[in-house]
Amino acid sequence: MTFDIAVIGAGIVGAACAESFSSEGLQVVIIDAAPAVATGTTAAGMGHIVVMDDSDAQFALTEYSRRLWNELAPELPGSGEYEFCGTIWVAADDEEMAEVHRKQAFYEKRGVRCEILDEKSLREAEPNLREGLAGGLLVNNDSVVYQPCATKFLIDKAVSNGAKLRLGKKVKIVSDDGVNLEDGEIIAAKKIINAAGIGSSLLDGGLNVVKRKGHLVITDRYPCFVSHQLVELGYLKSAHGSHEDSVAFNVQPRITGQILLGSSRQFGVDDSRIDHRILGRMIKRAFEYMPGLRELSAVRSWTGFRPATPDNLPYIGLCPNFENVYLAAGHEGLGITTSLGTAQILTDLILGRPPKIDCGPFSPFRIKSKPTAGS
Ligand SMILES: Cc1cc2nc3c(=O)[nH]c(=O)nc-3n(C[C@H](O)[C@H](O)[C@H](O)COP(=O)(O)OP(=O)(O)OC[C@H]3O[C@@H](n4cnc5c(N)ncnc54)[C@H](O)[C@@H]3O)c2cc1C
Repeated sequence: MTFDIAVIGAGIVGAACAESFSSEGLQVVIIDAAPAVATGTTAAGMGHIVVMDDSDAQFALTEYSRRLWNELAPELPGSGEYEFCGTIWVAADDEEMAEVHRKQAFYEKRGVRCEILDEKSLREAEPNLREGLAGGLLVNNDSVVYQPCATKFLIDKAVSNGAKLRLGKKVKIVSDDGVNLEDGEIIAAKKIINAAGIGSSLLDGGLNVVKRKGHLVITDRYPCFVSHQLVELGYLKSAHGSHEDSVAFNVQPRITGQILLGSSRQFGVDDSRIDHRILGRMIKRAFEYMPGLRELSAVRSWTGFRPATPDNLPYIGLCPNFENVYLAAGHEGLGITTSLGTAQILTDLILGRPPKIDCGPFSPFRIKSKPTAGS
């Protein structure tokens, strides 16, 4: 048979696409090389659903996606661990406090609820932060999700809508007529969505999606030690720098009482093993902000590779040089957040409806029109 849509990748982005297309009554097949869903970068992420303001385009996509997550939240099973904990962007000094005011004005102007915390109210909100921090910005409606279960939920929903799930099937070639699998099978489809994460470039030589390694640590259960997702304001410097290894204070409370501790960023590293030098730097940074973390036990640490693009925006839309192949790739450190918006944009584009946000900045055609890093 010829499917309406073949989705390559059963991570959070492919799962969201499969759910969205199948809800429209389209015949969907989801193909993944791994033997289970959500085994790639999705399994390694933090699950912070966050509105970002580093560019107007990123703001539009993250805000739109957060709204879609908040609408989906009541449907998610308990295992999805969806929680409206909010984000506090922590300011260490007066200079960062000025950034808090800028950020607050940006959000307020665009209807995102947030409040400025001074030193005292920051300490009241998070007593385990060290004394002497200048304050912060609380963004109320940000949330956290346990993304492997959310991915499974979306895939199950797609399957119950009639989608076919083909696991353990590696795609070798993508064409305008469908995909060729490594085992020789050909799957015919009218439209193909490349949601292969860090594998997306291998399916299109013109793509510049590269790996950006990250480390995370999870602690044992310490209920109420942290109540909000806490991120240092310097985080954006870390997220945007493209040459040096970087770390930033970023902690997340889980419903289980565990604390997830991040984050690091490294380019040009293929080795997935723990890098104790960078892990040490990351943990030291966390101790500087929350000295009490020193007393807690960590139970596991791991790494993952963010799928990064040269301009920090994902590729969402028709793929250059193809008529029927679309990209949903390169979501870097925001793919859990932006998965639902990505899926909705592609569904609207393919069904000939105007997307709800301007998707021009995400067009894969910018690959051809802008010089890319390294080229
Ligand atoms: C340390 C860390 C922390 C993060 N924290 C957050 C966070 O707090 N919030 C947030 O929004 N995002 C976060 N992210 C980013 C987020 O995890 C990713 O952007 C997102 O998971 C990417 O999803 P994906 O579906 O594109 O890729 P993946 O999850 O990697 O899925 C791609 C799938 O494609 C399959 N595939 C690849 N090639 C082929 C092929 N040739 N044939 C068949 N199948 C193929 C793979 O097996 C894989 O299952 C974090 C990432 C890391 C590493």
